Amino acid sequence: AICWPDGRLQFMLNERMMPAQFVVNGDGVRFINEAAPYMDFAHAMIEGQRSGVTHIPCWLITDIRSFHRYVVGGHLPIPKVPFAPVPTGRTVPQAWLDSGVVKQGSSWEELAAAIGVPGDRLRATAERFNELARRGHDDDFNRGDSAYDNYYGDPTLPNPNLHPLGDPPYYAFQIILGDLGTSGGLRTDEYARVLRADDSVVAGLYAVGNASAAVMGRSYAGAGATIGPAMTFGYVAARHMADTTPEAADRSTSAEPDSAIDSPGTSRR
Ligand SMILES: Cc1cc2nc3c(=O)[nH]c(=O)nc-3n(C[C@H](O)[C@H](O)[C@H](O)COP(=O)(O)OP(=O)(O)OC[C@H]3O[C@@H](n4cnc5c(N)ncnc54)[C@H](O)[C@@H]3O)c2cc1C
Repeated sequence: AICWPDGRLQFMLNERMMPAQFVVNGDGVRFINEAAPYMDFAHAMIEGQRSGVTHIPCWLITDIRSFHRYVVGGHLPIPKVPFAPVPTGRTVPQAWLDSGVVKQGSSWEELAAAIGVPGDRLRATAERFNELARRGHDDDFNRGDSAYDNYYGDPTLPNPNLHPLGDPPYYAFQIILGDLGTSGGLRTDEYARVLRADDSVVAGLYAVGNASAAVMGRSYAGAGATIGPAMTFGYVAARHMADTTPEAADRSTSAEPDSAIDSPGTSRR
């Protein structure tokens, strides 16, 4: 996320799929496929920080051409619209620069000094990135290889996630850790029933959504990977409850003797 000075957190998603950008740590080097799912990205920041190199914050580096072409930090790349609810216009808002959250440089060295990373490293990273982008494949981190990466990329490019950075000014956007959901919680079975540590079922207790351990594990497979399973397992849990009530047992005994009250997975669904 970007944290603006008033404390507002700007969720950072599409910017990391933009073609002409890369993210550097405190050493001025890339450390991940920038377009990776945000859970993976945040884990890489945490692990990188633990290695002793600053990764919180890290910096998204881009150029003025990208700012004129793509949505960045909520700014729309259209002519200035008075009283628009989001930033518009062709210049980076002065308030952004004044905040210190966005830095500007007319050379790699100037930008590096502004964000406190070694100038020679940032230049080398930019030159390497541009070379890979010109060739159309990110040999270092495979950015652009997956459909997830491509989703917010630029479909007019051979590789929607790669384009060399062009002329300055260059910009650096400070990235901190944001917070979407824990992915952690009570472990459940296929009917959303809560499990004990020994995998036995806690009778009558169900968990879905953020209260349950995510069915996707520690990663995020794509948009809706939290709400989708929450709705699905809410439905599954409700069906299971309906199938296991005393009334359901009565129905089953009178109408369908072999209906699976004890093993609802085999009942009609
Ligand atoms: C910025 C952002 C963007 C997101 N985008 C997506 C997306 O695009 N797709 C997607 O799938 N997911 C997205 N998510 C994640 C998704 O919104 C959450 O995973 C989902 O809303 C969780 O639903 P929930 O019902 O489990 O929990 P919540 O929505 O957190 O509901 C829990 C409820 O319990 C209430 N509560 C808490 N304590 C108590 C108490 N003691 N007594 C009574 N009530 C209590 C809370 O007030 C709250 O209403 C996003 C999340 C954020 C923050």
